[in-house]
Amino acid sequence: MANQITGEIKAVDRYGVMGYPISHSRSPIIHRLFALQTGQDIQYELLQVSPEKLETAVRQFQRTGGRGLNITVPHKAEVTRLVDQLSERAATAGAVNTLAFKGGEVMGDNTDGIGLLRDLAVNLGVSIEKANILILGAGGATRGIIGPLLEMQPTRIQIANRTLGKAKALADHFSRSGPVSACRFNEVATGKTYDLIINATSAGLRGETPPYPQAAISENTFCYDLSYGIQPTPFSVWAREAGARKSVMGWGMLVEQAAESFKIWRGVRPDTAPVLKQMIIAA
Ligand code: NDP
Repeated sequence: MANQITGEIKAVDRYGVMGYPISHSRSPIIHRLFALQTGQDIQYELLQVSPEKLETAVRQFQRTGGRGLNITVPHKAEVTRLVDQLSERAATAGAVNTLAFKGGEVMGDNTDGIGLLRDLAVNLGVSIEKANILILGAGGATRGIIGPLLEMQPTRIQIANRTLGKAKALADHFSRSGPVSACRFNEVATGKTYDLIINATSAGLRGETPPYPQAAISENTFCYDLSYGIQPTPFSVWAREAGARKSVMGWGMLVEQAAESFKIWRGVRPDTAPVLKQMIIAA
């Protein structure tokens, strides 16, 4: 019969990103571009999941045949509880941004640190060795980036956070790997500027600009906002107005960490340069 459909219907491998909020995420576009570039057939979903529903949502995604998830704000630390096997870098970070479901098990990894390093070192030519670094924020993203940054042997990493206890806990956790200290925003030492300031707060997601320490910036300071947007983020505007050498949003990290996740899931690392170019043009 001419119109009869024959053969099996091939199920497409399902992936997605879980967060709260999630509508700002560009991960579905990036993974679609990676899939096109590498000739992979995948589906990638945007999944808004509130903290109290995280476990149910992850288990359900796995049960219904999902192959992998990206995990974003605010679930990165909490999701470690649901993982059967943690990669070394995710265990060091105490935070997971990539889940892979294999043979009934949940594997957890963290590609944020390598994603940021690749953007800084490869795409932007920023040297971490001997740099004085200030990180604003002490959430899941900060957990993921401190270990890889310390491996590049900076002179010091100072973590400043609204909630001092969280910054202190991170400084204690990482201080055996290198020089890390903690303070509140208003305790960042005046009279001392930084080579690199990384904004890892989620304040910009709500359009907020906390009292970031302006005295920490000089004309030699490179400012990097993990957040990204169509318009300049509040932090990147603040940094430029405060006189930073350069102020960059986290598009490159977003694409690089996604490429590492894609490699974990599909065994092939996409070429990030054309995808990053496309994302920045589209923004
Ligand atoms: P978390 O929810 O785990 O942590 C949020 C952090 O932001 C906490 O330190 C919190 O402080 C601080 N914060 C939130 N609101 C304010 C505010 N109004 N004033 C001061 N501090 C505030 O988020 P993540 O660490 O997972 O993510 C942080 C940001 O990094 C997000 O914007 C995320 O989109 C971005 N990101 C980007 C990536 C990329 O690839 N470009 C990758 C990973 C993250 P407190 O402890 O006091 O609550």
